[in-house]
Amino acid sequence: MTRNAFQKVCLLIILLFTSAMSSAQTLTYQWVEVFDDLSIQDLRALPKSHWQTITTEKNLNKGFSDGAFWVKLELSPQSFNQMLEIAYPLLDEVSIYWERGGEIIEAHHTGDSLPFNSRPINHRNFVFSVPTVNDSVIAWIRVHTSGSVQVPITVSSSIQFLADEQVGFGWQAMFFGIVAALALYNFILFIIVRQSTYLWYVLTVLITSLVQLNFKGLLFQFLWPDWPLLNQYFTVSAVGAALFFTLTFAMNFLSVRQFSIGGDRALNTFRYMALLLVVYGIVGSYQLGIVMVSGLAALVTPAAWIVGLLVWRRGQVLAGFYVLAWTPLLLGHLALAVSKLGLAPIGAFTEFVPQAGVALEAILLSFALAYRINIERQKRQQAQALALKTQREANLTLEARVMERTEELQKVNDKLKAVSLTDGLTQVANRRRFDEKLDEEWTRLIRSEQELSLIIIDIDYFKKVNDTFGHLAGDDCLVAVSNLINNEVKRTEDLLARYGGEEFAVLLPTTTSDEAMLIAERIRQAVELSPITTSQDIAPIKLTISLGVATLIPDQNARCQNLIKFADEALYSAKASGRNRVVVANYEK
Ligand code: GH3
Ligand code: MG
Ligand code: MG
Repeated sequence: MTRNAFQKVCLLIILLFTSAMSSAQTLTYQWVEVFDDLSIQDLRALPKSHWQTITTEKNLNKGFSDGAFWVKLELSPQSFNQMLEIAYPLLDEVSIYWERGGEIIEAHHTGDSLPFNSRPINHRNFVFSVPTVNDSVIAWIRVHTSGSVQVPITVSSSIQFLADEQVGFGWQAMFFGIVAALALYNFILFIIVRQSTYLWYVLTVLITSLVQLNFKGLLFQFLWPDWPLLNQYFTVSAVGAALFFTLTFAMNFLSVRQFSIGGDRALNTFRYMALLLVVYGIVGSYQLGIVMVSGLAALVTPAAWIVGLLVWRRGQVLAGFYVLAWTPLLLGHLALAVSKLGLAPIGAFTEFVPQAGVALEAILLSFALAYRINIERQKRQQAQALALKTQREANLTLEARVMERTEELQKVNDKLKAVSLTDGLTQVANRRRFDEKLDEEWTRLIRSEQELSLIIIDIDYFKKVNDTFGHLAGDDCLVAVSNLINNEVKRTEDLLARYGGEEFAVLLPTTTSDEAMLIAERIRQAVELSPITTSQDIAPIKLTISLGVATLIPDQNARCQNLIKFADEALYSAKASGRNRVVVANYEK
């Protein structure tokens, strides 16, 4: 697109937006650009052919230029007081000469390179009251500036001026209120949540707003009216800083690096350029600085918008808000850059939209930051739930393992217990088990008042077996005899135990003396009739046994040892009366 066509498109858009907004009368005036230092007399003598004509609707907008611009504006007689306003407060030098009837009757020299009180009217813009009523006057205005040459002139009645001023200043106050509140609120959030994104947001909003307020002349008016020198340094550095913080915030807020390395690199490059311009604004020339910073802003704004769109498409949810917030600012910055470079005339659109864009951006991004809290809370909750689940699963696994181990231990314990209660040679219960069982049955049968019988068995002349056939054959005999006895002990509650070396005991709960005697007799016969085959190379060994039987009804006052004592005595009798026999205890003793 050629520069001319581009200008036309911009103009069309701007006209669409501004047609409803302008209220001042349209005037036609002459202008000339001069490069020598001409006096007002020289100017007045300048031939008509040097001058060009323009209207207050289009206004002078010449970008950056070294020359001084002179404006000749003729005002026809009016019956009311009038005000002349040049609504661009960053102009370095502004002089006005009022001519009536061929005489210069009044002159003022001001501009933002002079202290604020050089202005005849205390106003953020350059405002002059037209010195006369009922006469025609000529305003000769000289403007010289190292910044962008924009001379938006309006002439209106004092009444109209005051009315417009209410709206204009009201808007500035509202803008200030919005951004100050948002910056403060998010600063408080930063203090509480300690996340740098909030601080970058606050700095972005603050500096960007300061830039806007500076463009409106409000900083000079209220912050440093006696320090016009500051105006030379502030603008470039502040715009540079605003771009730097804007980019830092965008990169941080969108986590650009996670989504696009290229986008991250591009924004980072712009960021360092912005930082360089902050320094350049202090040490370099204002004229070059403002051109570079305007150019950078014109690049950064669409770049940040495109990167926002990119990371949005790649799944960064927050980028939706960002792109939305950035769009009005993009338009605003573009309008601003276009107007500062002199490509389009100044109008309400180019002046109003950037500021509205900043306010809207601040609001939308603040909303996005709040939304981010929500997202992060959800993430945290999910993480907590996951951690809880993992912990629960770990607990379950642990419980299962503990249970497994407990079972294993229990089995081992049971085994150990069984081993500790079993006789190693014959595999029948040992003496310890016998004592336990005797105790148990004794107590149990006290309650049911039933008989408990005991048979004690001793192998006859066993010493001889050992002596004749050896100990190993003797051991085999012990195993065989225990098996023979076991075959005769049928009930599960009965217990056969190895009581001593070659002595066995059979405990028979709920068994009468007669029944016990019968069992004893059966055992005796079984042994007598079963010669024992050993592992030794010898003939089967014939054995006999002697048995003592005792029966008692367990009684609280008696001790279970009595039962053993009686059975032992009976056994002794059996041995004494010839062996290989059963003797039932004689309780009369
Ligand atoms: P009695 O008829 O009077 O009972 O004569 P006895 O020889 O059997 O005498 P006693 O009961 O006093 O003898 C016990 C013998 O049993 C002593 C020992 O040699 C033998 N003995 C005890 N324990 C074992 C054992 O574990 N293995 C073997 N092989 N012999 C044992
Ligand atoms: Mg013995
Ligand atoms: Mg014996």
